Amino acid sequence: MPAAIGILGGTFDPPHAGHVAAAVAAQKQLGLDEVRVIPAGQAPLRTGAPLASAADRVAMCRLAFAEHAWAVVDERETLRSGTSWSVDTARELAREYPDALRVWILGADQLARLDRWKDVAELCGLVEFAVLSRDGISTVPPASLAAVIRLTILRAPPVQVSSTSLREALRRGDSPRNGLPLGVARHIEEHSLYQA
Ligand code: ATP
Repeated sequence: MPAAIGILGGTFDPPHAGHVAAAVAAQKQLGLDEVRVIPAGQAPLRTGAPLASAADRVAMCRLAFAEHAWAVVDERETLRSGTSWSVDTARELAREYPDALRVWILGADQLARLDRWKDVAELCGLVEFAVLSRDGISTVPPASLAAVIRLTILRAPPVQVSSTSLREALRRGDSPRNGLPLGVARHIEEHSLYQA
């Protein structure tokens, strides 16, 4: 049984160096035994379905984290129907690992809107959070959560990349090297993903 697990949820459409940097920083700084990388089926607060299938996003996550033995790609949200609520995943992990330190890893953009997540007060009781700064966005949590959130600021350099910018580059026919792990780039090419 792991004593400390990280949880990195996201759409991963596609996974990139920013995701890996956040997980690596949390794993090192907090001494996590494993980090669960959990691709969403349908992410909340988003319009439109992911462009790549769940199977492709799971495969790309495995490739992005291949060199990290502590990373475990967890398909549970892609197997659930409807919106993938983080609180449902946190409840399950709390049941599965009741005695473990459970840390939800996120970027500053998501911390800034954490107050809009479903059942966030309950979520704050189920997990601690660790945040990596991103795009100059503050790593201070929303004021309404100040009394309940347990938060670690990750000390790692920010990585300027997003799935949106990578999808746009790929749609233009570019082959982005920065921020796209090699195995993921190969998978995208072999399966002709994100083309116009
Ligand atoms: P999109 O551009 O499609 O919105 P994204 O690049 O934000 O996607 P997600 O899969 O939505 O990627 O992100 C999953 C998690 O990883 C979120 O908590 C997000 O804040 C975090 N994250 C993504 N990119 C970075 C980055 N460059 N630095 C730090 N955290 C990041």
